Amino acid sequence: MNKSYDIIVVGTGVAGCFAALNLPPDKSVLIITKASLLDSDSYLAQGGICVLKDEEDYSLFFEDTMRAGHYQNNRESVETMIRSSQTVIADLMAYGVRFSCQNGELSYTREGAHQANRILHYEDITGQEITGTLLRHVIEKENIAIREHTTMIDLLCRENTCEGMILKTSTGEYEPVFAKNIILASGGIGGIYKHTTNFSHITGDSIGIALKHHIQLQNINLIQIHPTTLYSPKPGRRFLISESVRGEGALLYNKAKERFVNELLARDVLTNKIYKQMKKDKMPYVWLSMKDITKCDIRKRFPNIYRHCLMAGYDALNEYIPVVPAQHYFMGGIRVDLNSKTSMKHLYAVGETCCNGVHGANRLASNSLLESLVFAKRAARTIADNQQASEGRKIESLSSKKLEDVYGIDWNTYDHIDSYFSSLMENIRGEIEKKSRKELHNEWNYNHFKCG
Ligand SMILES: Cc1cc2nc3c(=O)[nH]c(=O)nc-3n(C[C@H](O)[C@H](O)[C@H](O)COP(=O)(O)OP(=O)(O)OC[C@H]3O[C@@H](n4cnc5c(N)ncnc54)[C@H](O)[C@@H]3O)c2cc1C
Repeated sequence: MNKSYDIIVVGTGVAGCFAALNLPPDKSVLIITKASLLDSDSYLAQGGICVLKDEEDYSLFFEDTMRAGHYQNNRESVETMIRSSQTVIADLMAYGVRFSCQNGELSYTREGAHQANRILHYEDITGQEITGTLLRHVIEKENIAIREHTTMIDLLCRENTCEGMILKTSTGEYEPVFAKNIILASGGIGGIYKHTTNFSHITGDSIGIALKHHIQLQNINLIQIHPTTLYSPKPGRRFLISESVRGEGALLYNKAKERFVNELLARDVLTNKIYKQMKKDKMPYVWLSMKDITKCDIRKRFPNIYRHCLMAGYDALNEYIPVVPAQHYFMGGIRVDLNSKTSMKHLYAVGETCCNGVHGANRLASNSLLESLVFAKRAARTIADNQQASEGRKIESLSSKKLEDVYGIDWNTYDHIDSYFSSLMENIRGEIEKKSRKELHNEWNYNHFKCG
């Protein structure tokens, strides 16, 4: 007998967890992650989460988001995100999420391209605080089953309707599971790049699978490079030196230890300036000085970054730190509407894997945790509101052979699972390359893949 649920959520980052928590408690939910529960990019977020501090900041917040996105943002999505921000922060606090305070008041910080202090944070481990707290609640929920080291390898769909998926289980078997609704929350595409701040297992699986099933994508060539990650000659994930470090006064220097740029420029603009300087200096990095921070004690404000740099051999209190840009965020993704619905029936996408147009051509710092939470909640609410339509759906229990006939799948495709995933990634690369070339986007997008 095949397993079936009301809702399956793919991913245990903030988007997946918040969606699961906002689903009706009488619905059976399965949440899966291809790694362990804590291995999500959400957990790595350092800088913080934006919030509409007060009504006076609305226009500036809107303008900052639009300007960073080169005005290619969907205005309605931006408005929805900003208008929902206070409720989402209140939800988080009700779950027990802590934010740093000063003199008993919430402490708002600022990052590049923000004209006001509107970012809440918990020290420099905001993602860990939010994701860890949400996960604790997910674990407690009786209606939510969790499966770690379980990978979605394909969707089961027919007539543009999603009915389930095929999992590779933690013991290596292939298992079909069915659901009345499915929420994809599988994060970005960093894992397909040589230099990325993302976990290497976050390889855009939903995007590759969407391409295979002709589910609509949007802005697939819009990729954000973070200007400052700790340089290392070794391969692997790059450690991010948060933008708030520059927000608090850290400065950038060239080889000759001279300043060469305004450190608070938007990410894409700053990245290009750093690349130009690296080229000019014939160096694989530029220098960042946290010694220039006078507003706060960096050991207290950025304990995680300070510790990490020390471990890598740099004392940020006394030394310059080598930094280099790296792939950081995917603005594009599976095209969704304001309620996170994809072009396929009963299929939703939330968080970094989707594109609702909030970020336009470039994400404003600390907007992605907020966007993930706001639109994950909207997906869950939409599913709850449309329960009746889903109730009538009959999920059949089918034999493996019948699954092939009904869903047009070929089990042999999954025999060599590594080649299968390589081909999904190859297709993503191909699409990014094609669109980047056509629209003359930054060559970095496709010249820095792991291979190809
Ligand atoms: C180093 C770093 C710092 C950041 N700092 C900030 C910040 O300060 N503020 C901010 O707003 N944003 C920040 N971001 C961006 C933000 O963290 C992410 O955009 C956001 O957390 C994405 O959340 P998500 O839930 O969509 O995906 P993720 O948190 O990436 O979670 C993806 C989940 O999907 C699972 N998964 C993937 N593929 C499959 C599959 N095939 N089958 C099953 N499971 C799968 C993964 O295992 C994981 O559980 C940062 C990102 C990084 C990398």
